[in-house]
Amino acid sequence: MTGQVVLVVGAGLAGLGAAVELVRAGQRVTVVDQTQAAGGAIHRQPLPGRPSIARTAEHRRWQSLMAEVRAAGIEIRTETRFGGIDSTGEVLLTGAAPGFLRPKALVLATGAREAVQPRPGWTLPGVMTVGAIQTYLKTQAAPPLGRIALAGSGPLLLAAAAQLCALGRPPVAVIEAGRPFAHPLAALRLPPGYLAEAAAYMRRLVVARVLILTASHVTRISEDAAGLTVEIERGARRRRLACDLVGLHDGIRPNDAGLPDIAPIPVVRLGDCREALGARAALADGRNGGRRLAAQLSGTLAPALSQELQRQRRAQGLLARIYANDGADRLATLPGDTVLCRCEMRTLDDLRALGPAPTDRMLRLDGRFSMGPCQGRFCAEWVQRLAGRSGPARRIGAARYPAAPITVADLLAAQKSREGESP
Ligand SMILES: Cc1cc2nc3c(=O)[nH]c(=O)nc-3n(C[C@H](O)[C@H](O)[C@H](O)COP(=O)(O)OP(=O)(O)OC[C@H]3O[C@@H](n4cnc5c(N)ncnc54)[C@H](O)[C@@H]3O)c2cc1C
Repeated sequence: MTGQVVLVVGAGLAGLGAAVELVRAGQRVTVVDQTQAAGGAIHRQPLPGRPSIARTAEHRRWQSLMAEVRAAGIEIRTETRFGGIDSTGEVLLTGAAPGFLRPKALVLATGAREAVQPRPGWTLPGVMTVGAIQTYLKTQAAPPLGRIALAGSGPLLLAAAAQLCALGRPPVAVIEAGRPFAHPLAALRLPPGYLAEAAAYMRRLVVARVLILTASHVTRISEDAAGLTVEIERGARRRRLACDLVGLHDGIRPNDAGLPDIAPIPVVRLGDCREALGARAALADGRNGGRRLAAQLSGTLAPALSQELQRQRRAQGLLARIYANDGADRLATLPGDTVLCRCEMRTLDDLRALGPAPTDRMLRLDGRFSMGPCQGRFCAEWVQRLAGRSGPARRIGAARYPAAPITVADLLAAQKSREGESP
């Protein structure tokens, strides 16, 4: 695979949409994905032998895209991770199909990741992201054991709560920081599909009598022999809730930490990896981006940008208004011993000890922020805010190679595969 192939990273809607269009335009394509099966976040596949819990419309969309993928003869290498591209254009792959490649172009469709704001107790066992709970539901087709509380903000809380209801284990509460039901005019301007989906989720939650708290914040999570306790604040009111699992979620962000800014070959970012606009936009963006890249590679005229993308951008803007809340402002009121960096257990006090305006270098070398296995995916945004910086800040310091920490064994496996290549 040298110089002739377009490498697509991510077998979700965007990556596969791009791959199909590239092959249709005469390009050779290889897709890699770090998980066990194609699907991405929304179409995460059940483990072998388990049924799918996907809604019918979602299931159909996925079946139809996979039929196109099969018809195009696209190779998908699963359990294979993109490790970065160096200044010569060589890509490192680790995992099941390790090696070094020289693709002619690179499509980065690595999706979104969840933002989770630090709170006292958020690193306790039993506290995870709402997306992790959803992954469990989708792969196991069964709910996790115990009493589950979902907290934070955004439509994913309602979606996951409805899925838990459908599987017979309604959450003990949905604790939403925003006031999504207080904006009926903005809600009515959402595309009809969004409203139908929200109504279906709400129906499930109402029938299961799930406690839904809005304008409410989880201020602390603690544990004792009986399980977890979440402390909730709503204005001046406080309440406590007992549970066994807590799912936290404060929105989604492009999963672009560590991805290269520049490369010696054409590189495009598609879907949630560039702009987290949701599933409908991801497929449209993937297809459109695939056609545009094919046009660039063959020197022909690029097609116009997708109208769907503009529609979904407007819809996401409305959702942001509907779910607006003061959660991020509360960061400044966190106790000093709150863990910010979960990889190296660095606290707010550790950050403050660096002085009033620490540089990236001080944050990394003296503070150890963004230096652990996640390389700031979880903490960079909050550390930057707390360090007094404004604007989008998903990274501390420059992107470096490899894109994420890898083991020596990974590197050796990639090197071995290079040595095994036929000349
Ligand atoms: C946790 C979570 C839950 C969501 N749930 C819903 C939902 O219920 N309903 C809804 O409408 N939308 C949901 N969304 C949004 C929706 O999933 C996305 O908009 C849509 O799936 C984006 O498609 P995509 O192809 O851009 O990315 P994804 O579908 O996320 O696909 C990205 C793929 O890239 C792979 N990848 C990432 N990094 C690497 C790497 N270094 N090497 C190799 N492979 C890599 C991942 O394994 C993944 O398969 C969710 C998003 C998240 C983050």
